[in-house]
Amino acid sequence: MGVSLRNVSKEFGAARVIEDVSMDIPTGGFAVFVGPSGCGKSTLLRMIAGLEETSGGTIAIEDTDVTHVEPAERGVAMVFQSYALYPHLSVFDNMAFSLRLAKTPRAKMREMVREAARILKLDDHLDKKPSQLSGGQRQRVAIGRAIVRQPKVFLFDEPLSNLDAELRVQMRLELTRLHRQIGATMIYVTHDQVEAMTLADKIFVLKGGIVQQAGAPLDLYDDPDNRFVAGFIGSPA
Ligand code: ADP
Ligand code: MG
Repeated sequence: MGVSLRNVSKEFGAARVIEDVSMDIPTGGFAVFVGPSGCGKSTLLRMIAGLEETSGGTIAIEDTDVTHVEPAERGVAMVFQSYALYPHLSVFDNMAFSLRLAKTPRAKMREMVREAARILKLDDHLDKKPSQLSGGQRQRVAIGRAIVRQPKVFLFDEPLSNLDAELRVQMRLELTRLHRQIGATMIYVTHDQVEAMTLADKIFVLKGGIVQQAGAPLDLYDDPDNRFVAGFIGSPA
C-alpha cells in the first residue's frame, strides 16, 4: 500500500477532531479527502506528513510504520498554495531550496530542478521571480518544489483554492497529467466536490473527523452510504 492508516485519532486538548480513521491508499493512487470546512482534512494530511502527532493509531507509508518518524524521513512532500513561495528567490532557487538544505551536490541539484521544470513547462522561467509569473505558473513552481524531492507520496492541501475558476480547471488537468507522468501516490485535500470527482480515483468523504464513505467517485455518486454523502457528492435523489 502507498499509505495506510489504522485507527488514527487526534485530540486537541479536550476536542477530538479525528475519530478512529482507517484507510488504504494504493501505491500510485490519487486519493482525495473531501468534506466541509473544519471536518479534519488538513489535520489528517498533516499527520500523514508528520507535521502533527497522532493521538492514537498508526500510519504506514509503503508498508513501513512511520507513525513516529520525522517528516523529512517519511518520503512525503507537501504542496502548499503558491503564495508560500519565497518572493526574493528565483524560480530555480525556490525549487532548489530543499535540495540546498539537504546539501545536494550542485550538478545533481541543477539536473533535478531542470527535470522538474521540464515536467511543469517552466524551462523558460527559471531566472524569474515569482512576482513575474502568472498565477498558474506560480502554482506549478510550488509543485516543482515537491517534485525535486522525489517523494513517494505527494500531499496537497487545497492548493488551487486561491486561483480563479478558469485557472483551477486548467490546473486540475495539469495535476491529472502530472500524476500519470510521475506515477507517485497523491493525496489531495479539498472542500470542492467537483475537484474531488475529477481528480480522484478514490474519494474519502469526511464529516466531523469520521470517514463517512470511501470509494471510487462514481460508486459514491451512484450508491452513497448515507444522506450526508448523497447530499455532499451531489447525486440527485
Ligand atoms: P479542515 O481542513 O477540514 O477545514 P482542520 O483539520 O483544519 O479541518 O480542523 C479540524 C478541527 O480541528 C477544527 O475544529 C479545527 O478548529 C481544529 N483544529 C485544527 N488545528 C488545531 C489546533 N492546532 N489546535 C486546536 N484545534 C485545532
Ligand atoms: Mg484545511
